[in-house]
Amino acid sequence: MATLDADNARCLSCGGTMRSTVAPVSVRFRDEFVTVPDFPHLRCESCGEELFTLEQSEQLQRAAADAVRTAQGLLSGVEIKGWRTASGITQEELESALGVGAKTVTRWERGLVFQSATADRLMRLSIRFPAIYEVLRSGELYREGCGTASLYLERLLPRQRAATKAFFLNCYTPAGGTARPAAQSREVNGDAIASAA
Ligand SMILES: [Zn+2]
Repeated sequence: MATLDADNARCLSCGGTMRSTVAPVSVRFRDEFVTVPDFPHLRCESCGEELFTLEQSEQLQRAAADAVRTAQGLLSGVEIKGWRTASGITQEELESALGVGAKTVTRWERGLVFQSATADRLMRLSIRFPAIYEVLRSGELYREGCGTASLYLERLLPRQRAATKAFFLNCYTPAGGTARPAAQSREVNGDAIASAA
């Protein structure tokens, strides 16, 4: 894929005339080829060579990335940004709620870096159930006890059994035992649950 100033309408391959056209363009993104439909660009009327400005090349890369991302079942950068801004969530807040590094959300929203399937599912859950995002944002999951998080889940899953909800919140209570504080490590909890069974 060559790049060229749009004013210089001479084909680099055959010397033919480049014409403005709106047509599908095949783009490589990572190891996949994606067809971007109805893309305005210059095309040689003699040999079919396609030429793009730097801006067009960047647009194509983003469009191809979006197509690959959608095919993988992931939210697009535009979808993430749309939900985040409509909900009044800053990029830094979302990074903190999901436990990802600084500037990660910026990269997702720009389009060329994809979120993991796990982060995608947490965001989809948050979009569908805002209370889930409140639990992630509040840090309730990581504190002693499960007070607020339990209330959120109570509202969210009214028909789920209390034991199921408590298990999700790491407040599992073995039969005849006492509740495990949420702050304990997984290993300790795992042993406690295994020995109680
Ligand atoms: Zn040509």
